[in-house]
Amino acid sequence: MTQEEINIDHLRELDKKYFLHPTTSIKQHQANGPSVIFTEGKGIYLKDVKGDTYIDGLSSLWNVNIGHGREEIVDVISEQMKKLAYSSTFQNFSHEPVIQLSEKIASLTPGDLNVSFYTSGGSESNETAFKLVRHYWKLKGKEKRTKIIALERGYHGITMGATSATGITPFQNMATANAPDFFHAKPFQLNCELGDKVDANYPRSIRGIIEKEGSETVAAVILEPVQGAGGINIPPDGYLQAVRKLCDEYGILMIADEVICGFGRTGKMFGVDNWNVVPDVMSVAKGITSAYIQLGAVIITERLRDELAEISTDVLFHGFTYSGHPSACAAALKNIEIIETENLVANAKNMEDELLKGFQYLEEKHSIVTKTRAKGLMGAFELFVDRDSGTPFDPSALAAPKVIQECFKRKLIARPVVFEGSNIITIAPPLIANKQEIEKIIVILSDSITAFE
Ligand code: PLP
Repeated sequence: MTQEEINIDHLRELDKKYFLHPTTSIKQHQANGPSVIFTEGKGIYLKDVKGDTYIDGLSSLWNVNIGHGREEIVDVISEQMKKLAYSSTFQNFSHEPVIQLSEKIASLTPGDLNVSFYTSGGSESNETAFKLVRHYWKLKGKEKRTKIIALERGYHGITMGATSATGITPFQNMATANAPDFFHAKPFQLNCELGDKVDANYPRSIRGIIEKEGSETVAAVILEPVQGAGGINIPPDGYLQAVRKLCDEYGILMIADEVICGFGRTGKMFGVDNWNVVPDVMSVAKGITSAYIQLGAVIITERLRDELAEISTDVLFHGFTYSGHPSACAAALKNIEIIETENLVANAKNMEDELLKGFQYLEEKHSIVTKTRAKGLMGAFELFVDRDSGTPFDPSALAAPKVIQECFKRKLIARPVVFEGSNIITIAPPLIANKQEIEKIIVILSDSITAFE
């Protein structure tokens, strides 16, 4: 064994002994330790402690939008930290980066979504959104409006409310019971949402749930414009508009969870922009700083803020120590500047075509590939034993995980989505990815499918 190998083994042992990994099988981790220890990142690539280079095909956790190793961001964070590393934004305190970022966000968001509240990530943003909408209804004397309707297969995070809104059962099962007043509708029941009560799925639609529970008890509907962790599920055209109309019809607030979609991922600055919908509340995180430092935000309409101000002079008893962290806000401003000056939103849109072309090639070459889809640089396809009859793989075949393992051997990181019998392969590289890099990803996917077949 070389000294280098000994060091790597030592690191892996320490990792096993002292680190409880998020969203990981504890048993498998204890048996195997981490399979890769990263040391560097540049562009769409990550390098590990052995010196191997991987394509970061999921932008790590859908968040490294501008790619790795951008020194401009590091410089801005460092300058801000030297000047004012931290100060509180509670009550009547503020600082320049948070003011500038709030103004910038308002210039990008649709409609009058112009007022930002800051968090440290997506779960906190959604948790804040749920508390804010309930607070709003309470102040308006409608205390009964507490229920939140989300979608099956939606992912909203891991704090108590966010998990309860998440429509992916393994996440809910972990905490054994959901917080009360969260409901899940079947995604994309366009006809039902438009008012078709005869459809068999009506009771499971958002409209069906509102009518059953009573609209006077519903605070808000939350949904991702394009579902990410649930397998990249793109709503049919007209769906988001129908949900907006439905919310207006019943006086219910609409929350768009833009934690993945926001800041260019779908080929528009925000996911809702694909369908020209303006929600009442928008949660963002991830792409707001491209992961260089933790930040999230909840953006509300000026109308909502003005109503809150009008009704009550009480303190809003909600604020995180790191709400509006100056260095994080400075990083976000630089990140947004890079997204704009490098036209990364347009690039994501252009690369959608390349991704779809590549997926089409996979479909032609491999009889197990089907249901290909992409919105910007969020793409997926599914694996079926027999795609014509829609016969799924037996779960014991571990089809998607095995293809992903083959990808990993070939130095591509991508993610399988395997719950409820699905075998989905998801791809979401950084928004800087070019045509050649997308082609490289497709070649590795094809070789990996061949190795599995
Ligand atoms: N909402 C969506 C759509 C997400 O994809 C995620 C994370 O993947 C979250 C919320 C939770 O964000 P965080 O992990 O930053 O708490």
